[in-house]
Amino acid sequence: MPELPEVEVTRLRLGQELVGKRFARVEVRVAKLRLPVPPELVTILPGLEVRGIERRGKYLLFDCGNGRLLVHLGMTGFLRLLSGVSPPGKHDHLDFVFNDGQLLRFHDPRKFGIVTWFTGDPDQHPLLAGIGPEPLGPVFDGSYLLDASRNRKVAVKQLIMNSAVVAGVGNIYANESLFRARILPERAAGTLTRAECTELAAVIREVLAESIKEGSTCNVAEETVAYYPQVFRVYGRGGKACPGCGEPLDESRLGNRSTVYCRNCQK
Ligand SMILES: [Zn+2]
Repeated sequence: MPELPEVEVTRLRLGQELVGKRFARVEVRVAKLRLPVPPELVTILPGLEVRGIERRGKYLLFDCGNGRLLVHLGMTGFLRLLSGVSPPGKHDHLDFVFNDGQLLRFHDPRKFGIVTWFTGDPDQHPLLAGIGPEPLGPVFDGSYLLDASRNRKVAVKQLIMNSAVVAGVGNIYANESLFRARILPERAAGTLTRAECTELAAVIREVLAESIKEGSTCNVAEETVAYYPQVFRVYGRGGKACPGCGEPLDESRLGNRSTVYCRNCQK
């Protein structure tokens, strides 16, 4: 599943290519992804200019002046930018053709993604209104996390993966952040000290920023949605040596998600 850094890198790359261009033509070949795809996209978008590409959590918002095209990649979605028209393959559900001939293609085998259109304030949109602060934005810090965790019995890993608490921290980055902050994932959130909240907020920002930097600088093919495993110290490494102490990393399920940690290094 694409996580926040992959979505942010997609935003940065598409922004460089598409901002200032106009939609020329849209082809919709699917009626429904996770939500119905509005068929009127084919008439709304042509002629509109991409003024900017924004991100809220893992949602991409193409600002077209009088409304926004909202895209979520779901579990298996990705956006591929092609320099010219090419025949669609299996699972290529939408094509956005721009005035210079570039083609943006939405591909999603499992159809858990979302492509829709809305007008009005993004903060009032039903999909966006309940999203908590951006982890890389100005609101999210140790004090915020301390307030958000008081009297909460939920495991700290589940707290930071709750998008109403903080936007877009998925399973991989939750594992990494808790390892770096030396906090056990299963700890009740309410037991975190102020110092631990400060450290955890800082490492969440650090690990996301490192991944975005990695993704922005590595020269992967434009159609590849890649994870940036260079930054992963624990994710996918259950049973292998802890990079901190050398003991085998534990792996368990927490909230039905793979959770990797070190009993020795994390408290
Ligand atoms: Zn360890």
